[in-house]
Amino acid sequence: MKTEQQKLSVQRRDFAKDYQYLRGYELMSAFLKDIMPGELALVSSFGAESAILLHMVSRIAPDTPVIFLETGKLFEQTLSYKEQLIKVFGLSNVQSAYPNGGRLGKHDPKGRLWQQDPDMCCHIRKTLPLQEALQPFSGWITGRKHYQSKLRAMLPAIEDDGDQIKLNPLIDYTPEDIRVYFEQHNLPKHPLFSKGYKSIGCEPCTAKSADNGNVRSGRWQHAPNKTECGIHIEGGKVIRIREDNN
Ligand code: SF4
Repeated sequence: MKTEQQKLSVQRRDFAKDYQYLRGYELMSAFLKDIMPGELALVSSFGAESAILLHMVSRIAPDTPVIFLETGKLFEQTLSYKEQLIKVFGLSNVQSAYPNGGRLGKHDPKGRLWQQDPDMCCHIRKTLPLQEALQPFSGWITGRKHYQSKLRAMLPAIEDDGDQIKLNPLIDYTPEDIRVYFEQHNLPKHPLFSKGYKSIGCEPCTAKSADNGNVRSGRWQHAPNKTECGIHIEGGKVIRIREDNN
């Protein structure tokens, strides 16, 4: 049974759906300052396009919790870019979420699970740490965009899974919108972006984008049926996301 406070949260979520027409900075500002202050976290990979939402947060509320999944398999360049953006934007509440050592010892003692079972590897290195890190929050902010995949093309700006709100402020931004935002605000780029990496995740599962029309084409090239980490959660439960490449 939900507590009285959670019931209020549900009412607020109903109210929140009325803001579907907002995008980008306006959507973030409305939720972080007025609708759900102190209840949301931004989940950031500090990847190729992450600087936009981090920049918006820095202007609205730089103490907003930013959850960073430190999978243990990231590029060194991502870790240094994270430190650069924290400094440049003055972010004061970046929280790293790590995989549980016991789970790693049991399921991935040699660190090669990404080769044999990438779904399980993402599950223990990303999904479960994220689920645990998000427990204190009523919702989270993602950087997903329609153009990134067929599955993402159907997403609204505000999702409500009955347990948590998910905000997708950049959902209908185009690659050109992204480029212009970086240019207008003179944002630092990920060091690997200029080398052809348009979507950047863990090192073993990220290659240069093979298809310029599909920025995520460099992800999980060793596992052709996998296009998502499966880090999205509905009703407090992890949902396994699969999408074919046709
Ligand atoms: S992206 Fe690759 S290395 Fe990273 S958690 Fe998933 S399978 Fe493991």
